[in-house]
Amino acid sequence: MRAVGLHPDVIVVTSRAYATAAVLVRGGDEAFLIDSPVFPDELDVLAAVAAQAEFPVVGLLATHGDWDHLLGGYAFPDAPLGAAESTAARLISEVGTPQRELRAFDEELYVTRPRPLSLPGAQQLPVPGHVDVGSRELELHPAEGHTVDGMALWAPWAGVLIAGDYLSPVEIPMISEGGSASAYLATLARLEPLVAQAAHVVPGHGGAIEGERALAILREDRAYLEALLERGAGAPLPLARRTGAQRAIHAKNAERVSRH
Ligand SMILES: [Zn+2]
Repeated sequence: MRAVGLHPDVIVVTSRAYATAAVLVRGGDEAFLIDSPVFPDELDVLAAVAAQAEFPVVGLLATHGDWDHLLGGYAFPDAPLGAAESTAARLISEVGTPQRELRAFDEELYVTRPRPLSLPGAQQLPVPGHVDVGSRELELHPAEGHTVDGMALWAPWAGVLIAGDYLSPVEIPMISEGGSASAYLATLARLEPLVAQAAHVVPGHGGAIEGERALAILREDRAYLEALLERGAGAPLPLARRTGAQRAIHAKNAERVSRH
């Protein structure tokens, strides 16, 4: 796991699994953990990093309801979880799904955990809206299309956008079950002015990148999605993201788009 300070109040850690990003954000004497790393040793180190850097974590936030972003409770068992209303609703309608998917991952890789994943109901946050972190305020923006739910978080004092599963340098836009290419395009349009003024963007997978690079990725992703809607499986993939794994994601995207 890598830990990188983007700002005195922002630390990003990147998991060895799927390069999933988690972000510690501090405002004065309170901090939040946004999303999570995946492996147990990473979750242990994360708690130590937060303590050492004096980020007193009082709450967990999730950009969306996919299991690999929901593991923060292993690092901070007493911190309540907050999420967009769309995510809180999804966690209720898909109760047990994150636990099942985590178990499948752990069985595949022979990972053991100290206890089963506990996900007490998420507190619903107003999106679009704000949430206070100590003396600062995080802006919450709807970010749907990858999945049916989600939000992006903008830390204006740090110039950092925590995007959720958008703008990844390693993963093409993924339209999951419940996601939608047109909603994804709308999210990109919504995020564009924030990306344009961001010093750093933290996508859900692939580690933090500079704003300028994120803007280039945003344009590539838009071109890919527009082609996907027009040409389905014939759409060309972004140049730097044409691995076998990305082609498999593309094949699923094409199937989902053709069904709508
Ligand atoms: Zn993800």
